[in-house]
Amino acid sequence: DFDHVVEALLNTPADLDSLRPDSVLEDSCIKEAVIRSGMKFRWAKLGESQERPNRDAQRRPPADPALLVSRPPVVTIMGHVDHGKTTLLDSLRKSQLVATEAGGTTQHIGAFLVQLPTGERITFLDTPGHAAFSSMRARGAHATDIVVLVVAADDGVMNQTVESIQHAKNAKVPIIVAVNKCDKPQADPQRVKQELLAHGVVCEEFGGDVQAIHISALKGDNLQALAEATVALAEVLELKADPGGPVEAVLIESRTDKGKGPVTTVIVQRGTLRRGCVLVAGCCWAKVRFLFDENGCAVLEAAPSAVVQVVGWKELPSAGETVLEVESEQRAREVVEWRSHQAEQHKLLGEQSAIELKQQRHLEEYRREREPLAHLSWRQRRAALYRADKIRFSMRPSERTECDEPGLPLVIKGDVDGSVKTLLNILDGYDAQDECRLDVIHFGVGDVSENDVNMAATFGGSVYGFNVAASRGVTQLAARRGVALHLHRVIYQLVEQLRHELSSKLPPQR
Ligand code: GDP
Repeated sequence: DFDHVVEALLNTPADLDSLRPDSVLEDSCIKEAVIRSGMKFRWAKLGESQERPNRDAQRRPPADPALLVSRPPVVTIMGHVDHGKTTLLDSLRKSQLVATEAGGTTQHIGAFLVQLPTGERITFLDTPGHAAFSSMRARGAHATDIVVLVVAADDGVMNQTVESIQHAKNAKVPIIVAVNKCDKPQADPQRVKQELLAHGVVCEEFGGDVQAIHISALKGDNLQALAEATVALAEVLELKADPGGPVEAVLIESRTDKGKGPVTTVIVQRGTLRRGCVLVAGCCWAKVRFLFDENGCAVLEAAPSAVVQVVGWKELPSAGETVLEVESEQRAREVVEWRSHQAEQHKLLGEQSAIELKQQRHLEEYRREREPLAHLSWRQRRAALYRADKIRFSMRPSERTECDEPGLPLVIKGDVDGSVKTLLNILDGYDAQDECRLDVIHFGVGDVSENDVNMAATFGGSVYGFNVAASRGVTQLAARRGVALHLHRVIYQLVEQLRHELSSKLPPQR
């Protein structure tokens, strides 16, 4: 029993050495307990040779400038909640539907292309705001060239506006301001631009170089001007890429489709993606069977800055991964095998991932505080400590002042380590609801288990699963214990649901 093992390990760490290595490593329960107890896998398979030749796939060196051609800009829309990001994306997408006569079959694939009447193209990322942006950046994927900062003209600069500016500045990505909701009678675009000054965003009329376009995302007013401003900035940035040579791309969304199997959306950064290309991403590989655009139409090839759905993955890689083309299936297997081996080595050698370190820190706090509660059971003690705010599983080091502050305890499960990390990154950067605490009480890889549900029930929280399943028994247990079980295959939808649940926890507006 899990509690038992943790208890035993905490009391007598030395016992760990007496555990039988092989059988122990198989047992995920004990493995997790070991991680929680902050101990390293001392029995790591050190005997295995670590001196393998490096068989990884790498990005190519920069191309000869003579081979570069212009490419469309990739744009992320950011801004404060309710300022109109989703509405703007919808309006931009709709403007394209008419143009392409695709008949309203647009699917959400994580990004879409807008083509101006003059022929210029813009790729818009359609993933929720700065959450996706920072999670990609955390993985070193630079997918965005321009940030469109949406600020509502009736509301002005708010805290997430400032955060968005900070994100863009840190990533050295230029900003275009979309002053939204200009159709409202109380709109005051001038005030917005003045407020932005205080945050180092100097619009053209104040002598700066930041373009500000007055729009109404709802009515579709001036979207053309916004697109033109984006193209103009892209020209200044001289965005270029080499359409030849092996493909390099960034993976922005991944999910399992009932009919198609593992499906990913990628933005091509270099080379031209075609059917038959062999790709690697993280520890997964694909031989490209089909490419689809956002209208679900099969396409033959995708040049730099194009967004396509890729079908043909053997397993599902996670969003944020870099996608690289290799020369053959054999080479892809070799790369994946090498990477998997590396990942395993990292784990075994105790170079604990950020997740494990976080757990370790939580546990240290737990240990410090557990003494006075020695007579209680492990679970009772943990709950008591949690309630007393002594043990903090919060992702955000929030300075809590009131104990009745609303909070949402979460159990997060994902199909692979990468997807769990992505989710945690998103939650980490997701401080939409300052008044509502996001407490990740447990997270891990694999299907939702009874233990997950029980843990959520203990803290009155919910379970969120990405690309994982829950057995009938687990679903029934969740229903019995009143635990909300949210299973999603699209990160965007998961985050939306979470946002809803968070909003429902907030006290009514004062
Ligand atoms: P997000 O949280 O930034 O994605 O904001 P939404 O796109 O969900 O918009 C929040 C609310 O503002 C919705 O009720 C929209 O209908 C409304 N809204 C968005 N853009 C405009 C606009 O240009 N004018 C007006 N009047 N309302 C807008």
